[in-house]
Amino acid sequence: MGEGPTPGFYWGDDGIYKVRISKAGHWYAMRAVPNPNGHRVGWHYVGQRVHLNEPMTAAEAGRFTCHCMVCGSRLDTPESRERGMGPICAKRVNT
Ligand SMILES: [Zn+2]
Repeated sequence: MGEGPTPGFYWGDDGIYKVRISKAGHWYAMRAVPNPNGHRVGWHYVGQRVHLNEPMTAAEAGRFTCHCMVCGSRLDTPESRERGMGPICAKRVNT
């Protein structure tokens, strides 16, 4: 298996990326698609053709996109936006 980034959220050169591991064991990245009016955040597959910068937490990614990174729902209240995660997911993840 080749070296790859740890699964999680990253700052990229042009937005926020999520790194995952495929069933075959290869890492791939998805870019968060700005979707201010949509209820759910969109992810666009980019594979390994991406330059990742520093890692970020799910809460940081949530604050930036205004969407919960755990379930993908839009963060509608000021409290959720500040936390970067919805209330139910915040309890579950317990960060
Ligand atoms: Zn959530």
